[in-house]
Amino acid sequence: MNKVLITGAAGFLGSHLCDKFIRSKYHVIGMDNLITGDLTNIEHLFANEHFEFYHHDVSKFVHVPGNLDAILHFASPASPIDYLKMPIQTLKVGSLGTHNLLGLAKAKKARMLIASTSEVYGDPLVNPQPEEYWGNVNPIGPRGVYDEAKRFQEAITMAYHTYHGVETRIVRIFNTYGPRMRVNDGRALPAFFSQAILNKDITVFGDGSQTRSFCYVDDMINGIFTLLHSDYALPVNIGNPDEISILQVAKEVLEMVENSSSNIVFKGLPKDDPKVRRPNISKAQDILGWNPTMGRKEGLQLTYQYFLNKLNK
Ligand code: UDP
Repeated sequence: MNKVLITGAAGFLGSHLCDKFIRSKYHVIGMDNLITGDLTNIEHLFANEHFEFYHHDVSKFVHVPGNLDAILHFASPASPIDYLKMPIQTLKVGSLGTHNLLGLAKAKKARMLIASTSEVYGDPLVNPQPEEYWGNVNPIGPRGVYDEAKRFQEAITMAYHTYHGVETRIVRIFNTYGPRMRVNDGRALPAFFSQAILNKDITVFGDGSQTRSFCYVDDMINGIFTLLHSDYALPVNIGNPDEISILQVAKEVLEMVENSSSNIVFKGLPKDDPKVRRPNISKAQDILGWNPTMGRKEGLQLTYQYFLNKLNK
């Protein structure tokens, strides 16, 4: 395998994937319509002769000249605030976009990896979540546009696999953090770091007892890279099972940010906000030999330095 198409290339995970594949001596075609992506994430790659960038919306017909060995579909708005602002685009990129890219994968005989999500488990009634759990999703709630697009994406990917014999991989991505997260995407860690750095109130939603399990971006990228090169076609959870309450994360961020005068304040809990989330990663461990290695303290420190720099402090 040597030529890959990465959609959502200017986004948080997409841009790190571009770096990983360039480092691994691939030719990389990055594609993004830039509605949530940021070209500064991949600016450093434009001078590389093995990197090309197409400004394109994958929910429209996708054309790539020549051969293609793999497609990694990472284009999508990916935070609750983005889904509220762009519900139709979120539905289209997960459904029409995935259909277009599966057609391209079939035509090119390329392997297709889709970025699915822990959101397919909804507000889970089982914790931790194994891949066999079918989830508890509200299709018409604010998160429905994302959750159902991703569930459809898994369904059509399996259909292309079984009916057309396309080689497919499905990664269910749990909360991931690190450099290149968007400062204002509304997610917990970008919000907490920028609030603490700018001495604003730290907004914890609900009473902060809801849990998440945060995976450092380098671990996530290694897991995805390993899954692509495996021969396993069923969904695989990739995430760090280090589960923590949101209030505790807010406290750790506040403690880490030097000389912050911020206070933690409590705001209303958004509708359908999952109460718990933690991946069961035994499949990733057994099938891929993958384990997260970055500890939370060190990962948060690297993320802090990134946000400090981004906010010009
Ligand atoms: N959250 C919060 N304050 C914020 C942003 C998010 O307390 O300013 C909470 C949010 O309600 C959720 C958790 O942090 O319970 C993680 O939110 P995020 O949007 O990062 O990810 P997701 O809910 O998709 O896991």
